[in-house]
Amino acid sequence: MREIVEIELRGRLSGQQKTRLKKLLEMMYRPSEIAEEIGFEKRQFYRVYIPLGLPHEKDANNQIWINGSLFREWALETYKNPSMEKNEAYCLTCKKPIEIRDPEWKEKEGLFYLICSCPICKRKIARITDRKVN
Ligand SMILES: [Zn+2]
Repeated sequence: MREIVEIELRGRLSGQQKTRLKKLLEMMYRPSEIAEEIGFEKRQFYRVYIPLGLPHEKDANNQIWINGSLFREWALETYKNPSMEKNEAYCLTCKKPIEIRDPEWKEKEGLFYLICSCPICKRKIARITDRKVN
C-alpha cells in the first residue's frame, strides 16, 4: 500500500504571505496582480496553482483571471496543515475531509499530487503528496 505523505513544496505560502492574502478582494485579478500583492513569482500560478486545480477563468484573449477571495480560500485550504487521515483529502465544496478513492497519480516538474473525486459532490480534488513507501 502506498504511503501518502504531505511534503513541503514550491507554492506553499509563508506566514507573511498568508497575512497578505487578506488584502485580496472579491474581484477578478490577473495572475501578475495577485503575485505582486502577495509577493511571489507570477509563474507560480502556471507551474503550481493552476495544475493543482486553482479555480480560474480565461477570457477571449486567453488572459487568465482569478477571483481574489477564491484564491485566498483555495490557497489556505490547499496548504493548511490538516488533521486529516492519510487517505483523506479536503473538499472545498463540502467543507470537510473526504475519503480518497481511486486516485489518479500525477507528477509535474517534481511535484507529486493526486486527483480524486469527492464521493459526495463529485468535485475534482487535488492533493499534494509524496509517493514514498516506508
Ligand atoms: Zn464534496
